[in-house]
Amino acid sequence: MRLVIATGNAGKLKELRELLPPPAFEVLPQSQFTSVSVEETGLTFVENAILKARHAAEASGLPAIADDSGLEVDALEGAPGIYSARYAGEGASDEDNLRKLLAALEGKSPAERTARYQCALVYLRSPRDPSPLICQASWEGRITSNRRGTGGFGYDPIFELADRPLTVAELPAAEKNQLSHRGQALRGLITQVRGIYPIAS
Ligand code: IMP
Repeated sequence: MRLVIATGNAGKLKELRELLPPPAFEVLPQSQFTSVSVEETGLTFVENAILKARHAAEASGLPAIADDSGLEVDALEGAPGIYSARYAGEGASDEDNLRKLLAALEGKSPAERTARYQCALVYLRSPRDPSPLICQASWEGRITSNRRGTGGFGYDPIFELADRPLTVAELPAAEKNQLSHRGQALRGLITQVRGIYPIAS
């Protein structure tokens, strides 16, 4: 199955490619078709994922999968949420965002640091597909006080698993893909695509 992945985020692209291996999938990055990214004007992960998938399907002429994801921190009433990539401002780096989050939670006890990653994945057959396939998943954990580990991307060095004293950046990549919000959502989405459009798969 040939499809375009609607993201310019290198960390996400790497994980989605690992989760969609050849020969069953031929995954092309959106950057192969356009350098323009769409404005994320939605107020939910699902809305933004649909906007991104539509943009990528339009630019490529291929079916598209888009991910919109982020981190919800309970002590911050769900922030940074859909603004996770730009928490420290437009164009912020992962390091800027991570530092801002550590500062926002300074002085909080471990019990007050609960959080979860959220991921919405959307599959569109074409830009005007009126029936997007959607799968959402989350991954529970807590925000640490210090960075640990070098794997993953984004907030992974400060996101600790709920059931083990390891940050996601300390997990091997294959284990992250097995457990993560993105891995769970993608497995659910592929099951839907195969069930609904058997010819496409
Ligand atoms: P998006 O590209 O607008 O969906 O923004 C996603 C942002 O959420 C990323 O830039 C990261 O800051 C954060 N994020 C989403 N998934 C992960 C993950 O698996 N690890 C670490 N950070 C993540």
